Amino acid sequence: MPIQNNRLPESELEKNFSDIHPPFEHAEGAAIEANRCLNCYDAPCTKLCPTSINVPLFIKQIASGNIKGSAHTIFSSNIMGGGCSKVCPVEKLCEGACVFNLLEETPISIAKLQRYSTEQAIHEKWKLFTRKPSNGKKVAIVGAGPAGLACAHSLSLEGTEVTIFEKEAKGGGLMTYGVAAYKVTPTFCKEEVDYILSLGGISVQYEKQLGKDIQLADLQKNFDAVFLGIGVGVARSLEIPGENLEGVMDAISFIYNLRTRNYSQISVGDKVAVIGMGMTAIDAATQSKRLGAKEVTMIYRRTEHEKPCTEEELDLAKLDGCSFLWLSNPKEILGENGKVKNLVCSKMKLGEPDASGRRSPVDTGETFTIEVDMVIKAAGQIPFEGLVNNSKLDNKVGKIKIDNSGMTNLKGVFSGGDAVNGGKEVVDAVQAGKDAAKGILAYLKK
Ligand code: SF4
Repeated sequence: MPIQNNRLPESELEKNFSDIHPPFEHAEGAAIEANRCLNCYDAPCTKLCPTSINVPLFIKQIASGNIKGSAHTIFSSNIMGGGCSKVCPVEKLCEGACVFNLLEETPISIAKLQRYSTEQAIHEKWKLFTRKPSNGKKVAIVGAGPAGLACAHSLSLEGTEVTIFEKEAKGGGLMTYGVAAYKVTPTFCKEEVDYILSLGGISVQYEKQLGKDIQLADLQKNFDAVFLGIGVGVARSLEIPGENLEGVMDAISFIYNLRTRNYSQISVGDKVAVIGMGMTAIDAATQSKRLGAKEVTMIYRRTEHEKPCTEEELDLAKLDGCSFLWLSNPKEILGENGKVKNLVCSKMKLGEPDASGRRSPVDTGETFTIEVDMVIKAAGQIPFEGLVNNSKLDNKVGKIKIDNSGMTNLKGVFSGGDAVNGGKEVVDAVQAGKDAAKGILAYLKK
């Protein structure tokens, strides 16, 4: 069967893409879990949270039945605490730091508890924050992703009028367009954005792209400050022959299609190769399987030991039936009648550690060939270098440079999140948005 859509019945697709993390079914379940928490002094879980959520406090509030207070504690540090409870790699953040790990016991289900209170707040539209009176300032934000939304919320709380310009038709950025649907559903993403905007003082102009529909110079002229939360850009090419064949696509576009169309409309091959082993690669591989691909092979140039994804993500791909070729690097994609037919890979071995500290892959000179009809490239993303250069922003290969206050080389223009760091977790982008808001408010007072 060639690459095609509609491989599975609608009901099966719905099941395959439904929420993978079941919430607590009863308040008692949440209370029992919350009561396990030791309320550690100098809590390591809080220290490992990039937004410094007071974890023991919000858990204690759940244990005592104060769910509103708990949601307020979470949102005060992370206004996207709902989404983060579903997409954060908690095993290497808060839950990985929980002291129960030292006791060789199951860590507290911090994410599940966080989800418990934030979902109630979002669904029931609890009004937990009030804006200060107007400070008379106007700020433009480019990008309604996690950094932009966090920045907007923090600024609006202080009485600033915020206008967000977003190139897509919906807000949420990576959360809405770049994460597997079974981790965070499109419906939840919309509710979360609506909840953030319900504070007031924030308007969003959708389908307005920087450099096309809006120009930075105009924003500088018309607003007191500007925040660029433009994220990280386009998919990195593999730079190998055969990339233009029909059946080769990048994981970003594949996941974007999944998030913006009906699952039955998304085409997938019989035999899919996914290049890469990061979170996006895992999302592409597992979702290919869940769309009905017969074989999905993940290809990575180092060993399992050096993989960038977490153990939990790898387990998920294993459970979904994906297979793995370690120490393998794509060398050429071969086609027939313009369509993908084979993938030629180099066999690699491990050499000396590179700048990342991981042992580097070295070509052994041997190759092998596998039969595939679809290749999904998930070899990272490269920043919007052209856009950044055209805007005369100081940058390092497209990554925008900022000072300690979050300001770029252009006066009154701030940036943060993936546009600056080249791509980290959603929770890091939220913190970057908060930090930039602090820098902007200080700048506006001068
Ligand atoms: Fe509770 Fe674990 Fe955090 Fe301690 S480390 S406060 S037990 S969640």
